[in-house]
Amino acid sequence: MLNKIDHVGIAVKSLEDALKFYGSIGIKPYHFEEVESQKVRVAFIKVGESNIELLEPTSIESPIAKFIEKKGEGIHHIAYEVENIRESLNMLKESGCQLIDSEPKVGAHEKLIAFVHPKSTNGVLTELSQSMH
Ligand code: ZN
Repeated sequence: MLNKIDHVGIAVKSLEDALKFYGSIGIKPYHFEEVESQKVRVAFIKVGESNIELLEPTSIESPIAKFIEKKGEGIHHIAYEVENIRESLNMLKESGCQLIDSEPKVGAHEKLIAFVHPKSTNGVLTELSQSMH
């Protein structure tokens, strides 16, 4: 059901400050985007074949703002690439997993995404991500 890790999401207070650190070690962002559904601005960086998504809240209502308020900056989620997100969600639902999103929505890079509740995944907020191309 899971193809690979698509990216790791890191909650940051400021993209600009976070990118200063990555810039200092020679890593530049390759993609910026505002994701309305999550009330975040994101920057993607690539390390080898791996992607890191830096997430900065655009509103105090953003789930990222709430996360930072509670836990501080840090690893927020792990995203897995799936072939068919609806099938994956059904499979998880049937196995008793608690889903945050029972229906996929549009995330960064116009991918279909849905989150699984950390209560069902050993405390790790888990994102499923399906490319629409
Ligand atoms: Zn993500």
